Amino acid sequence: MRSYSRLLVCLTLLTGPAVASPLDARESPSIQEIPLPALTLPAQQPNFNSFDLTSALPPASILSAVTVPLPPSCSGYLGAPGTNSECLTTTGMSALSVQFEDCGTPFVVCRCADAQMSMDVALDRFSRVPVGLRRYASTIAVMATQTSANAYTLTTGETHFFGDCAMDTWIHELTHAYDFSGITSYASATSAWLDALSTDSCVPDTYSQTNAVEDFAQTSVLNVYMLIFGGNLPPGFQTACMSNQLAYVNSLPLFNTETLFGNTCDIVNSGPPARETEPPISLDPSRTFQTLPTADADLLPTSSRPHVQAATNSSRQPIPCFLTWITAVLPLLLVLWI
Ligand SMILES: [Zn+2]
Repeated sequence: MRSYSRLLVCLTLLTGPAVASPLDARESPSIQEIPLPALTLPAQQPNFNSFDLTSALPPASILSAVTVPLPPSCSGYLGAPGTNSECLTTTGMSALSVQFEDCGTPFVVCRCADAQMSMDVALDRFSRVPVGLRRYASTIAVMATQTSANAYTLTTGETHFFGDCAMDTWIHELTHAYDFSGITSYASATSAWLDALSTDSCVPDTYSQTNAVEDFAQTSVLNVYMLIFGGNLPPGFQTACMSNQLAYVNSLPLFNTETLFGNTCDIVNSGPPARETEPPISLDPSRTFQTLPTADADLLPTSSRPHVQAATNSSRQPIPCFLTWITAVLPLLLVLWI
């Protein structure tokens, strides 16, 4: 049960000269908001507070977590007292190289010493992100917040969490990392996604109204829920008015349950290239994901739950490439404040 209120405010950002936008004071003045239009569809629910995905998502085991020097993607957010840095040099930041059981290469997770989320909690939540989505993550940074929990993801795939961010926030942010890995087009910018928005008569929640990118990430959270809970939406949500959004998201190769909930980062499909693609040294065939037929199916005996087949060592195939639609010299940065 989450103990904090969540205010969803998302900013879509682009590097370059500063623009007038409600950026948090910690943000670099070189980050700007991409002027994506807000959606006009009504929100079906005010927020996602009616559910928590944590217990439904089994954690991947951590094989090793080794202290490493701060990478530039983390040290760049350290600053002296009096600056607007995300983490103060007087507070300090640490970094771990974290090897999960289902990936052959480690992830880097940095944490500012005053962050509300402990490193253990952050690693637990990161490990629960399904491997098919987690493999799109880049550096994870865990910081403190003076307000409500919030987070943002850059188009580089780097995600910064502020405060005690719940599982749906982790799924949301790493969906951005997935989305931004598209080279020819973001999944949230395709004509199919925009068509879905023009056909449907609602979006999931108030935050989804921010723009098409945020709606895509929120719909991804709902789709993960539906894949786990036998096609059922969380309490209070109905399919009808957002069926095209759900259908589009679910049609993406990312949401193939065999690979999304599989046992390896080595996934070959027609989706955008992931950042972590190496298989683990040894695949664990017993790491099969249990999907739940109903919202209360976690009460069912384990043996009665349907399972996702674990991958074997013979699954590797060529990964298709995409061309970038980004023409700006500086990278696009997309930011979520929650
Ligand atoms: Zn977002």
